Amino acid sequence: MDDCIFCKIAKGEIECSKIYEDQNVLAFLDINPKAPGHTLIIPKRHYKNIFDIEDKDMIEIGKTVKMLSNKIKDRLNPDGIYIRQNNGELAGQSVFHYHVHIVPCYEKEPTGNNIQEILTD
Ligand code: AMP
Ligand code: ZN
Repeated sequence: MDDCIFCKIAKGEIECSKIYEDQNVLAFLDINPKAPGHTLIIPKRHYKNIFDIEDKDMIEIGKTVKMLSNKIKDRLNPDGIYIRQNNGELAGQSVFHYHVHIVPCYEKEPTGNNIQEILTD
């Protein structure tokens, strides 16, 4: 998809604050975070939403969401985490390349840390 911003991020054509990458999946910090550590997980292949993503990529995304939720919990020590995935404009989707949000929730938000560094191995 030529005009898809997340495809461009996946190809390295647009910068992102990457925290994880493998052959099929990329995770990076949301540019407009709800809280420190707000992370997006995307398949490198373009799918619009849950209605067209292939099972094999869904499984890879699921494993990565679990792995990064644990990492965020261990390293940023939030009081909770919510996972959100929007499908369709009315449901809040603004980027039409499948992605999952991991959003940590804090009683007291951490400040002044380099979140990307903390979450990168
Ligand atoms: P959604 O509303 O579920 O489609 O989420 C799209 C998310 O992508 C929003 O939270 C945006 O802040 C985020 N976003 C948009 N452009 C970028 C970008 N270039 N780098 C990182 N996050 C982005
Ligand atoms: Zn795309």
